[in-house]
Amino acid sequence: MTDWSVLQDLDLVDAHCHLQDGFLRHALEPALIRARAAGVRMMCCNGTHQGDWPYVLGLGKNHADICVSLGLHPWYVRGRGSDWLEKLEELVATHPVGVGEIGLDNALEERNDAAQEEVFLAQMDLAVRYGRPVTIHCRKAFGRLVDLLQGMRERPPFMMLHAYAGSHEMVPVLEKAGCHISICASITRPANRKARAACARVSRDRLLVESDSPAIAPMGVDFERNEPAYLPLIVEALAGLRGEDPAEVAGYTAANARKFFACCGRPKP
Ligand SMILES: [Zn+2]
Repeated sequence: MTDWSVLQDLDLVDAHCHLQDGFLRHALEPALIRARAAGVRMMCCNGTHQGDWPYVLGLGKNHADICVSLGLHPWYVRGRGSDWLEKLEELVATHPVGVGEIGLDNALEERNDAAQEEVFLAQMDLAVRYGRPVTIHCRKAFGRLVDLLQGMRERPPFMMLHAYAGSHEMVPVLEKAGCHISICASITRPANRKARAACARVSRDRLLVESDSPAIAPMGVDFERNEPAYLPLIVEALAGLRGEDPAEVAGYTAANARKFFACCGRPKP
């Protein structure tokens, strides 16, 4: 068992997770209890395709500490229905949700870049029109992403690069384009030098932490058995890489996340 004693009474916000997926779908309540016991006060759950939007919305309605974003993830662009954008807009217009998870994924073997970009930009436009924060997935497409952001006449009020896997050189470029950077458990692996180097470059007011559960577990945990309760391990590793105090990192990343998602969901406890 993990020893949480060093990190008790933390104020934590999990800026990105998928509580509808994997083992969490069928064992959510005990996982929520463990998360709360570990100090996680809010979990930002992202829908990824039309099939999971109603369920994810329901999670937000039934739990005061779950904040919801809905979007079409690049992995599901190919299977989208003809009415996906109309349906998404209907939900965004009638519920206080963020837009996400959306993005660009150039690491996919079979992909259609034009379709990915069209779907991404349509959702960015939706976020602009409704003034919602956006959660962005980006793999091997950071240059293109910055080009697209710079080409937009207007951008959403908040944008986060979740599970950041880019270089440390890209951090100031993305921050200048208006992005927050969210760090996941990949930094707990010493071999992941790229992500670890990026941690120290992120400005305090743009830094977020996330579990991305049920995937990307911290080192030592079954990779697909990740859950928000492991967030303290990520904060501890992040604080070490930044030369800061874990409780302080927990506090300011939580404050950043609350500000980021301020327009989403009910008032937070
Ligand atoms: Zn995700």
